[in-house]
Amino acid sequence: MSVESHTNAKRDDGGAESHNAGAENQHEAPNFLRNQIRSEIESGQATTIVTRFPPEPNGYLHIGHAKSIWVNFGLAEQFGGRCHLRFDDTNPAKEEQAYIDAIQEDIHWLGYQWSGAVRFASDYFDQLYAWAQHLVREGKAYVDDLSPDEIREYRGTLTEPGRPSPYRDRGVDENLDLLERMRLGEFGEGTKVLRARIDMAAPNINLRDPILYRIRHAEHHQTGDAWKIYPSYDFTHGQSDAIEGITHSLCTLEFEDHRPLYEWFLAQLPVPAKPRQTEFARMNVNYTVTSKRKLKLLVDQNVVDGWDDPRMPTISGLRRRGYTPASLRKFCDMTGVSRAANVVDIAMLHFAIRSDLEDNAPRAMCVLNPLKVVLTNVTADHHEVFEVPGHPAREDMGTRRMPLTREIWIDRDDFMEEPPKKFFRLAPGKEVRLRNGYVIRCDEVVKGEDGDIETLYCSVDFDTLGKNPEGRKVKGVIHWVSAEYGVPVEVRLYDNLFLDEAPDRDKDADFLEHLNPESLVTVEGIAEPSLADAEPEARYQFERVGYFCADRHACRDGRLVFNRTVGLKDSWAKIQKKQG
Ligand code: ATP
Ligand code: MG
Repeated sequence: MSVESHTNAKRDDGGAESHNAGAENQHEAPNFLRNQIRSEIESGQATTIVTRFPPEPNGYLHIGHAKSIWVNFGLAEQFGGRCHLRFDDTNPAKEEQAYIDAIQEDIHWLGYQWSGAVRFASDYFDQLYAWAQHLVREGKAYVDDLSPDEIREYRGTLTEPGRPSPYRDRGVDENLDLLERMRLGEFGEGTKVLRARIDMAAPNINLRDPILYRIRHAEHHQTGDAWKIYPSYDFTHGQSDAIEGITHSLCTLEFEDHRPLYEWFLAQLPVPAKPRQTEFARMNVNYTVTSKRKLKLLVDQNVVDGWDDPRMPTISGLRRRGYTPASLRKFCDMTGVSRAANVVDIAMLHFAIRSDLEDNAPRAMCVLNPLKVVLTNVTADHHEVFEVPGHPAREDMGTRRMPLTREIWIDRDDFMEEPPKKFFRLAPGKEVRLRNGYVIRCDEVVKGEDGDIETLYCSVDFDTLGKNPEGRKVKGVIHWVSAEYGVPVEVRLYDNLFLDEAPDRDKDADFLEHLNPESLVTVEGIAEPSLADAEPEARYQFERVGYFCADRHACRDGRLVFNRTVGLKDSWAKIQKKQG
């Protein structure tokens, strides 16, 4: 295999291929990465910047990855550079084609396009192997026969130096021969590894002869059975960056201690470029977990309905919940990047989607907890249709048709038999306005045998359309749906998956103990007729109720199911106000 030889400064394919969407959302809030790159460009130290997003295809992407995508694609876009998508596929046992496909779909959905073809670290396996041989020839790598446990034991601790393996001083020829035979599959898993020969007493444990190759007799999704050994992350990442001409290798802080190793390989090997690694803090969000391993557990144990369950913090889950790409990019921007570990309040995520949908989601009425109302002075053949705005401030959203019939549904919560003083909705003898319609008065309450309210008999004041009634004020407005024309819908009321704000805080406890038993409550509602042909993923504000999204799976199967994205209440704005 040949190595593409790219230099950072000049590439003949130019920077023109970066057509990442979302530019309009890429605000200019300063952050240390932007500042750093800007000053490198101003000083001439950098010209074209090239970043990469390097997911491991062992699960679906989550909100933390959205941050990394936003960082890598966003910076490339801002500075006219390029961003590669490179699967970090060195661990075939945990990887799957399904994840590779889902990851690409999520990145596209977020509005980004990688530069050039999809890349795989496994594309570079031949080159990496040649470089491993190079290190062996230079006396900088050796085959070790210690077992994994022994290797750990010999490595020492933070306070004690490590000890050299008895195999550390094998000759070059023997090492080359053993390495080749490892590659061909002559040895069992765990019987040998290739290690760099650096310094068993290095204060940074990552430099105590780190492992370069492990034996694994596994089928690889890209390379099939060609390899019986697989390179470690450390031996793969920096060299892949160098091969691709990555200028800025941006990763999360847990790799900070690996940076000396990243640089050691680049210094020892005849690499075509010298990328630089810069770390930033992982983004964590409270009331959820962002670890693929834990998310996979939720899926495998059927705690949720797959990786894209609307309660999952995965990109596909957020999408199914009703989040928009713009809201997630906005959220990333609001929360910024820094080097200080931080936990973001989930209320900020809610704020980001709420403000998007407030402006962009059409309105609709849907009654979640229906109570029958008979309008006694409306005849059975009464036919009246209110033409009401799709959105109060968006004429481009047109109008929708709300038929009024003798029987309608209202929400049970909008009626009280014995209302407290400030209850401005419906009560016996009291008036309320039907949203976009007339004022009605409750004349009679009919109960069933069990004492539950079954039906309200109300009368319409026909002289109140678009105007106040004569001589009195009616403060309350409630939503409603014609009983004749309304469409039954399933409404899924989602809430946080965990009750504890840091469900995985305690490493020894099971984070599943903190599951919220009411994270999903399903109700049968009645929606206005215009929702009968809601497209999958159509988003609405159900007036007075919240923001909802037509479930992409159910609606495709012809079932009307709406997922609650977020309520109407703006708790983040309140928090901010409180904090002054
Ligand atoms: P997980 O712990 O969920 O498995 P990971 O870091 O192992 O995550 P990768 O597929 O290796 O997952 O991640 C791809 C990129 O996304 C990496 O550069 C990683 O640093 C970044 N990333 C992962 N989680 C976060 C996060 N919470 N915040 C910011 N970046 C993240
Ligand atoms: Mg990883």
